[in-house]
Amino acid sequence: MAGGWARDGAVSEQIEASIEDELRRMRARPVPAGESLTHCAECDEPIAQARRLAVPGVKLCLDCQKARDARPVQRGGINRRGTKDSQLK
Ligand SMILES: [Zn+2]
Repeated sequence: MAGGWARDGAVSEQIEASIEDELRRMRARPVPAGESLTHCAECDEPIAQARRLAVPGVKLCLDCQKARDARPVQRGGINRRGTKDSQLK
């Protein structure tokens, strides 16, 4: 922008507005899957668009996803297996 610097107040108002907007979008979604990445979060390889469409919120390329699925690694992320013992009926 060539209009000079905005006042601090104006800037923080903009930031707050965008955070509120973001929160609203997150609440509107049934599943907080997030955005699909165009590049793999692990190896930075481009993720095929077909994969991004097929897997909403995809973060990994196919190779990294396979590698992750093959290993029972839990890095504080999603534990898809869950704890069966805790799901008592
Ligand atoms: Zn990858």
